[in-house]
Amino acid sequence: MSIGSLGTEPFDVVVVGGGLAGLCATLAAAELGGRVVLLEKMPALGGSTVLSGGFMAFADTPMQREAHVLDSNELLLQDLRAVAGPDADEELLRAYANGQAQLHEWLLSKGVRYAGLEQSSGQSVARSHQTDAREMLEKLTGQIRKYPQAKICTDSRAMALIRTELDGPVASVEVERGGSVERIRCLGGVVLASGGFSRSEALLRLFAPAQAQAVRIGGAGNTGDGLWLAWKLGAGVRDMAQIRGTFGTHPDCTAEQHEILLAFYLGAIIVNLEGRRFVDESQSYKVLGDACLAQPQQRAFQIFDQRVMDKSSPGVPLFDFQPALERGLLVKADSLEELAARCGMDAKVLRACVERYNAGVDAGFDQDYGRDGLCHHAGALCRLDQPPFYAYLSTTALLATYCGLHVDALARVRDVYGEPIEGLYAAGEITGGFHGQTYMTGTSLGKAAFFGRVAGINAFRRSRNGAASLQVGGPASASINVKRESE
Ligand SMILES: Cc1cc2nc3c(=O)[nH]c(=O)nc-3n(C[C@H](O)[C@H](O)[C@H](O)COP(=O)(O)OP(=O)(O)OC[C@H]3O[C@@H](n4cnc5c(N)ncnc54)[C@H](O)[C@@H]3O)c2cc1C
Repeated sequence: MSIGSLGTEPFDVVVVGGGLAGLCATLAAAELGGRVVLLEKMPALGGSTVLSGGFMAFADTPMQREAHVLDSNELLLQDLRAVAGPDADEELLRAYANGQAQLHEWLLSKGVRYAGLEQSSGQSVARSHQTDAREMLEKLTGQIRKYPQAKICTDSRAMALIRTELDGPVASVEVERGGSVERIRCLGGVVLASGGFSRSEALLRLFAPAQAQAVRIGGAGNTGDGLWLAWKLGAGVRDMAQIRGTFGTHPDCTAEQHEILLAFYLGAIIVNLEGRRFVDESQSYKVLGDACLAQPQQRAFQIFDQRVMDKSSPGVPLFDFQPALERGLLVKADSLEELAARCGMDAKVLRACVERYNAGVDAGFDQDYGRDGLCHHAGALCRLDQPPFYAYLSTTALLATYCGLHVDALARVRDVYGEPIEGLYAAGEITGGFHGQTYMTGTSLGKAAFFGRVAGINAFRRSRNGAASLQVGGPASASINVKRESE
C-alpha cells in the first residue's frame, strides 16, 4: 500500500506503527479533519494485532446482557486493579474502565463485529469479546481510506524524532522509505504506536532474562524501535520488570502458526512432565507462564477429560480444542494409564495426582494449591473422570511485552521526571503502567484501541490550538469530553 512522496506540507499528526493502536489513532485524527500520515515499517500493516486471538475486554455490553453476564465499569476496574497490583497506574485503569463502552460503540460504528464471549485470564465474569483481528484491521483501514487527507505508508520506518530545540516540542520525524531518508514535519504531534519488543533479543536480554526459554510469538517488526526513539528524548518507563510469557502454547508453535489452548480455564489441571501438579490453574496465565518456566524442560501438560472437551467452543481461538486434536497436537486416550504412557509419564503418579485433585473437588477445597475456581476465583471446579482423557503439551510464549513508555490518560509521553514531552504521544503495547504484575485477557487490544484513539484526538487538537486536550471521544461521532492539559 505504499504511497508516493510525502511532500513538504506538514501533517497535523504523524503515527508510527500500523497495528490496532496506530490505526485507531489515525482514524480518530482523520475523523476530526486532521491531515495525518501513518508510517509502517513492514510491507504490510498488522503487527502483533493481526496474529492475536482478537479478544477485547469490554464491560456491560449488549452481548454480555444477552448472555446474562452481569458486568459493570466498577467490576472491570476492580478486576483490573486486582490483576495489576499496587504499582498499576490508577489514572490509566480508570480512564479505560470509564471509556471502554464508548470505544466499543465507536468500533461497532466502524463495522467491527464480535462473534463470541469468553471468560479468561484475570476476569471474574465472561468479558473477552472475540473479533477477527484481521477483519477489524481491514474495517479500520477501509474507514481511514474514506479521508483523502489521511495517508497510510508501508515500508516506511521511523528513524528519529526531532524537536524544535532542546526540550522543545517534537516537530518532525525522520523516516526511511525506499532507501532514502526524508523528514516529515508535524504540527500537532507524533503518536508512537510501534508495539512492544517481543522480537528483540537485545531488549529481552536486558529486561526479561527470565524469559530466555519462552517461545517468541509477536509481530516481526516489534523490535522496540519506538522505545529507542522516545528514550533518546528522555522518556520514562513503567512496568519493565513485569514482562511475563503466557502459558498454554504448544512448544512446536511459531509466530506464523501458533496454537494456544486454555483448557485449564474450563477445568483442566496442569501437570509437569512427571505428572505432578505445581500451581493453582485458575490464576493469570502470566503467573502460570512463570510457573511453567520453573519446571523441568520448561514444559507441562494440560490434562482434561471429555467433560472439559465438551465445553470447547468451535471457531473460538484459545477455547477450540478440536483443531489441535486434528493436527495431532492433542493426545487422546481411553484411560489415564494409556494417556500417561503416551506422554512418557509414570501412570501411577498421574492417576494419584488426578484422584487427589478429584477428592479436593468433592471436598470443595484444593488442599495443594488452593484452587477455588476455574478462572479468577469464578466457576465451579469439576472432577476429571469422564473418559476419554486428553493431554496438551504446553509451554510459555512471549506474546507481548506489557510494559514501556510512561504515559498519562491523555496518551502524552512523560519524561523520566514525569513531565509531558510536548508533541509526543504513545499508545498500545509500547506503553507501560496498565497491566502491572499480571494480565487480563483482552486488555492489550483494548488499551491499544482506547489509547490509540485518545492519542490521535489529542495530537490533532494540539495542532489546532496547542493546549486543549481530550480524554475520551464520544460514541460514534466526534463529540468529546474536553479536558484541558492544565487540569
Ligand atoms: C499470538 C498472540 C495472541 C494475542 N492475543 C491477544 C488477545 O486475544 N487479546 C489481547 O488483548 N491481546 C492479544 N495479544 C496482544 C496484542 O495482540 C498486542 O499487544 C496488540 O495487538 C498490540 O497492538 P499495537 O497496535 O500496540 O502494536 P502492533 O499491532 O504490534 O503494531 C505495531 C506496528 O508498529 C510497526 N513498527 C515498529 N517499529 C516501527 C518503526 N520504526 N516505524 C514504523 N513502524 C514500526 C510494527 O511493524 C507493527 O506493525 C496477542 C498477541 C499475540 C502475539
